[in-house]
Amino acid sequence: MQVHVSIHDVSPAWADEVELALEYAAAASVKPALLVVPNFHGAWPLLEHPKFCARLRELQASGHEIYLHGFFHKSRPEAEARVLESGAASGRPSRLGWLFAQKIVSGGEAEYRDVSRAEAEGRLNDGERVLREAGLTIDGFVAPAWAMPPWLLPMLAERGYRFTEDHLRVYDPARAKTRASVVLNYASRSPARLLSTVAYCRIAKYARAVLPARVAIHPADMRFDLLRREVQSLLSWSRGHVAARGEDLLA
Ligand SMILES: [Zn+2]
Repeated sequence: MQVHVSIHDVSPAWADEVELALEYAAAASVKPALLVVPNFHGAWPLLEHPKFCARLRELQASGHEIYLHGFFHKSRPEAEARVLESGAASGRPSRLGWLFAQKIVSGGEAEYRDVSRAEAEGRLNDGERVLREAGLTIDGFVAPAWAMPPWLLPMLAERGYRFTEDHLRVYDPARAKTRASVVLNYASRSPARLLSTVAYCRIAKYARAVLPARVAIHPADMRFDLLRREVQSLLSWSRGHVAARGEDLLA
């Protein structure tokens, strides 16, 4: 089965780590999709970094896909989310669900978990505008921490998106197609998480026998010797099976 490789959290905030990941990918003849955050944590507005934008245009011209990856890549502060929740706009997650999504799964990065539809629409508009103004063509959308509320998929379909994904599946929203797919990625927030994700990936990669796989490289991985080695070995394991585009996994 095919393997699709991506680099998450592409932002000037992580410029050096992204370049190192690109170097490893190039050594394995892989051109990862680049998941670009328009304003990482509200502190790294893409358009204020013209050299970084130029680098992204060059990478896209050489065959890398560009995906919109949220807008801020950050959830609201917890107190604010609680107030909004008690405001009881429909479709808000439960407090427990919110805690699970933000604290346990994503470490506060699940941006689309606690926004309303109107806010999501606004952030998609803003994100698409920033990427267009940076001279980039948008090839897909991935929600930060893969946290997609159920209404996001139809919203992406309306906008004509041909690729999105969550933890378990890949989707072609515009054509209403979906397929199960295993995702291989590392978490480096704590030593225990780091080791457990390494162990998981070493085993889960065998699922490629029956499912298309995704290798998701995070810039923070590049800060750990062990993860740099694991990423390099996953990239060479991908060699010869790499899907050029995310939507190829659905073909
Ligand atoms: Zn991300």
